Amino acid sequence: MLRNRYAIAASVIFDGAEVHRDRAVFMRGGRILGIVHRGNLPHGVPVRTLPDGAWLAPGFIDTQVNGGGDVLLNDKPGAGAMAAIAAAHRQFGTTGVMPTLITDAREKMVDALEAVDRAAALNPGVLGLHIEGPFISPEKPGIHCRDFIREPTAEDIDLLTAQRETATLVTLAPERVGEGVVARLADAGVRVSLGHSMATYEETKAALDEGLTGFTHLFNAMRPLGARDPGPVAAALEAPNAFFGMIVDGEHVSPAMLRLALRGAAHPMLVTDAMPPVGGKNGSFPLNGQDIVLKDGRLTNAAGTLAGSALDMASAVRNTVDMLGVPLTDALRFASTEPAAFLGFGDRLGRIAPDFRADLVGFDPRDMTIYQTWVDGRSSDVPTPATTA
Ligand code: ZN
Repeated sequence: MLRNRYAIAASVIFDGAEVHRDRAVFMRGGRILGIVHRGNLPHGVPVRTLPDGAWLAPGFIDTQVNGGGDVLLNDKPGAGAMAAIAAAHRQFGTTGVMPTLITDAREKMVDALEAVDRAAALNPGVLGLHIEGPFISPEKPGIHCRDFIREPTAEDIDLLTAQRETATLVTLAPERVGEGVVARLADAGVRVSLGHSMATYEETKAALDEGLTGFTHLFNAMRPLGARDPGPVAAALEAPNAFFGMIVDGEHVSPAMLRLALRGAAHPMLVTDAMPPVGGKNGSFPLNGQDIVLKDGRLTNAAGTLAGSALDMASAVRNTVDMLGVPLTDALRFASTEPAAFLGFGDRLGRIAPDFRADLVGFDPRDMTIYQTWVDGRSSDVPTPATTA
């Protein structure tokens, strides 16, 4: 029975842990069957061979994406916008996104949470929703609109913990939400990440005990690392079960600080924190009545405050190698295997292994040019013709 079975051959296949040479990924429909020697593929199976020297790896997973393709989730937080954002990022190797709604009116959060399962049905690249704010510290708003920053109500907790097919990630300031809120969210399966926070080291440790597992754009918009005031950064880097987002664009954080973070015990994840210009045509866009303009690789408002990034995941992987001196295989893990585990999808995404979803990226390892992606076994535009084994 060859129906729905096919293979992709590449010079190098990185499965999320190990490198395999001159093999093929064998698949059926949207599932991976395994990695096999090219010569061992059953006769008649269609084989797509990537260009010489190409790598094939687990598709990138971006847990913080405000927009892309000239779409900003906050403008109209529905299923169409989420699917469009996922589609815009795919050309950069991203096969899974968490569209991210930043601090805004409550109705937008309601709309987004209601729409996310429909968005995933429209585009399986939508893995869930990231709610960043409004339960954050007014002392660290970054670009978030202060007028909407508030504490969560019982209704908010009910809304966030409602049953969903997709992942829910909430970035909050634990010192602003009251005792037990992190535990209630975490116990319901919501991923809780510290961000836009002035939490002390002790407050962060208490939140970790309650079930906090993430740190949103580590270093940015949080209490800084101090000699007698270690804050969330030190607590994060001591936590072997925690995951932290890194924006490796050379603008948000000094590469020296990121190299320091990589020496800690926590798991790094590459995020883009991308805004509409990524994969879009326009270099500027409105956000909460402010004009955000792209200049020299930075997105800022008139006052010079950073407003997300113009980064894409392929560039983030390249920068991680070039600016941080990280081996490519580790950078690829930070872009896929680690975020999959953070979201609770470590048994189905982020690896090339039997029974995992066929989410893959084929690319040129010299400059991270993306050749092709597969989401749930479905190929993006097809530049290489299939032959048969
Ligand atoms: Zn933020």
